[in-house]
Amino acid sequence: MKEEKTYVSCPNCKKKTEYEGNPYRPFCSKRCKMVDLGSWLKEEYRIPVQGNDDSEALSH
Ligand SMILES: [Zn+2]
Repeated sequence: MKEEKTYVSCPNCKKKTEYEGNPYRPFCSKRCKMVDLGSWLKEEYRIPVQGNDDSEALSH
């Protein structure tokens, strides 16, 4: 059985940050989220959604 954590690159500072348990995902911090939120108003862009539903069947 594999346990792989999901990491995402913070759209603002490109730092790798853990996806699970991160309230600010996909950002690394609240600060980056707030900064990026400003750019949402100017330009729309989409964050790719990663489907990973298979792992749910194997949970604990
Ligand atoms: Zn960041």
